[in-house]
Parts: sequence; structure tokens; C-alpha cells
Amino acid sequence: MNYYNIQHKDEVVSFKDATIKGLGRDKGLFVPERIPVLPISFFEEIEQLSDKEVATTALYPYVEGSMRREQLSQLLEEVFTFHTPVVELRDNLSVLELFHGPTMAFKDVGARFMARCLGAFADKSKPVTVLVATSGDTGSAVAHGFYEVEGVRVVILFPKGKVSAFQQWQMCSLGKNITAVAVEGTFDDCQALVKQALHDERLNEVMALSSANSINVARFLPQMLYYFFAYKQVKSHLKGRKWVVSVPSGNFGNITAGLYAQAMGLPIAQFIAANNANDTFYEYTLTGDYKAKPSVSTYSNAMDVGDPSNFARIQELFGGEYALIKEKVLAYRVSDAQTLSKIAEVAQQGYVLDPHGAVALTALEHYLKGGQYGTFLATAHPQKFDAVLRKVLPDFKAPEVDLEGCAALQIPNDYKVYLKVLGVESK
Ligand SMILES: *Cc1c(COP(=O)(O)O)cnc(C)c1O
Repeated sequence: MNYYNIQHKDEVVSFKDATIKGLGRDKGLFVPERIPVLPISFFEEIEQLSDKEVATTALYPYVEGSMRREQLSQLLEEVFTFHTPVVELRDNLSVLELFHGPTMAFKDVGARFMARCLGAFADKSKPVTVLVATSGDTGSAVAHGFYEVEGVRVVILFPKGKVSAFQQWQMCSLGKNITAVAVEGTFDDCQALVKQALHDERLNEVMALSSANSINVARFLPQMLYYFFAYKQVKSHLKGRKWVVSVPSGNFGNITAGLYAQAMGLPIAQFIAANNANDTFYEYTLTGDYKAKPSVSTYSNAMDVGDPSNFARIQELFGGEYALIKEKVLAYRVSDAQTLSKIAEVAQQGYVLDPHGAVALTALEHYLKGGQYGTFLATAHPQKFDAVLRKVLPDFKAPEVDLEGCAALQIPNDYKVYLKVLGVESK
């Protein structure tokens, strides 16, 4: 399979090169040249197949030419060391739990898959240094995903005092090839340092740099497997009803991967994109006008994105047709107040949701009709958002973490000091 740059369609690369490059010219996103359609028999027999077979069959066409089928299969086995169970809450409604990975958020799968691809593709004589700036979740998923991957070193910058104790612990407790650094500054300062390094010609001469960006094809594509695994589990519960899936969306990577799965033949009748107050996509479905906005803070903070980067991939998938996009992807906006009341309501019924899952459920209930069966995605473990949960569930406990012994390196917001951490003396 080859991939082309949406911005410059003549830039065509292999899966391997798309993974290593991350972005194409002028920061264009890579998309596959075609979406493979799987035979109907695959979906008819899916319950009889192992998760490994399902995953390998679905993903192999996307990596063909860059990786052997056996190699992919082996790699997927290393990625999926945990399950993605569907839990039925009512006769017509279930939750797909994507938080059983090592950092308890759905980003684990993408980060683990990309890490192993980079490890496999890396030139062993020149280890890759992955530079990351994080406000929390991405850093922990990338840290764990790349942990102990040979030929890859990771340096994560986070704003000092601005990530939760739990997130800091997840980034700093690993060691080995993972270095976490607290910067005296904001997330934007961290990001600026990383950008400066990635564009620093002298630095690029002495080391191979990469960015583990969330728009990397190797982070984006494996997320489609969630939907295949979910179908395997809900199929016998559908009983002739149409399957509706609601996805809490920020950068729209997860839902776009779902749309790919649907285009491959997976019988999802309807997608719902759940937005928080960062409602750029919701507004687009109402007006046909895409207007990026600055992000605003909410309780479901992993979705605080005002200009979702994967919107370009959705447009490309549907030939830029507004009418088609708004038919294929219904959208809804959910406030912080609605999020809290949904968490409280569902807790009364015996199930504890994190804020992102609560946004997705609220959107699903808004649209779910008779004759349909709904599934929403719970993308983070509620323990990751204990402070939000305690606003409505005062007895909800914080996770116990021991920050002693895993203190991060601390640096000022200074590029020269950052270079030292990377092992380079500035002139
Ligand atoms: C990243 C994230 C999202 C948003 O996913 P996108 O692919 O960016 O739309 C939702 N929930 C959680 C917990 C996340 O970490």
C-alpha cells in the first residue's frame, strides 16, 4: 500500500516512509491510496476468528510492502497485551472500554504500534530520538508505548506542575530509554522547544529525530481495530437492529479510523462524533463552514481541540462533500454541566464513567432511536480524572502513586539546556 500527501497528491510514499516522515510537504497528512474492502465471509465468520487473526487481516493491506504478514502479526501480539471489552449497560446500549492498556487511555494502542514500527524500520546503526511535548495523556502513552523498544530513545517535555501527579508518575517511573523532563513554562513553551529541535539542521545532522505525532499513520490506523473487536462482541446482541457508534472526539483520529473500518465493510450503520465545548466539527455539521477556533478548557480535556487535524482525512474520505459528511457523521455538543450530571446518573445505576465517556454517552442518547443498538467508547479510565469525578461522587478515590524516586529532570525554558539533555553541547 502506498500513501499520498493530501496537500501534494504527487508525493507518494510507502507505509514505512509515511511512518518515518510523519508528515508530508507543507505539513500535509498522508492517507492510503485506497481503502481495502474485506470479503463478506470475513464479517460472517468473525466470531470464530481470534483477535489476532482479525487484527492481522484488517491491518495487513495497509502495511503490505513494508512488512511481512508474519511480522505484523507478531507485532500486534506485542501491542495487544490487554483487552477492549464491551460491557452492556441496557438491552440496546453498551460501552466499549478502551482503557485497559498500561496508561489507561485509548492512545496506548496507537503509541505501542507506532513505537514497534519505528523500532522495526529504524536504522540500527543510528538510533532514533523521539521528541515529544505533552500536556499529559500523550506523553504517558508514548512513554509506555516506546519503553524498552530497541533503537529508539524518547525525551518527553511537560510543563512543570501542570500535569496530574498520576500522569507525571506514568511518564517518570520508567527510566531506561525514556527520559521525562519538567520544563519551567507552559505546554506551548514545551512544544516550541520540540519544534525548534526538529527544525535544527545541526541537530538533525548528529541524530535521527522523530516526533511520534498523533497524525502519524502508524498511530492513527491501528485504532480501527477497536471497531472490529467491538463488532465481534456485539454482533449477537444486535438482533437485526442497526449499530450506532458514538466516539468522544478531539483530533478526530479515533473516529476517522472507525470510518475507515466502515468503508472496509464493517457494518456500522451510523457514527456520532461527540464534542465538548470545542465544537468546531459540530458547528461545521450545522453550517457547512469549517471554522477553526482557539481551544477552551473542559473537564474532558483530551478533547480540547479547536482545529481537529484529522478533519482533512474525513474530507478526503468523502470527497469533500458536506452533505455526505454530515449524513455519515452526526455530531453533538455536550457541556461540562451535562458531563457531570451524566457521570452522576450512570454512577447511580452502578457504572462509573470518565468525563470523555460521559460526553459520548450523552451524544448517543440524544440520537438513539427504536430499531437501533448503540455503543459508545469510553476512552479513559475514571481514575485518570479523579478530581472531576469527585465533583459529583465525593467518595471517589484518587489513584495511589508514589512520586518519590521518580522525580523528573527539571530544566528552565531554555533551548541550550534542552540540547544538553539531548546530549549535544551548543556552540
Ligand atoms: C485523545 C483522546 C480523545 C480524543 O481522541 P481523538 O482521536 O483525538 O479524537 C478522547 N478521549 C481521551 C481520553 C483521549 O486521550
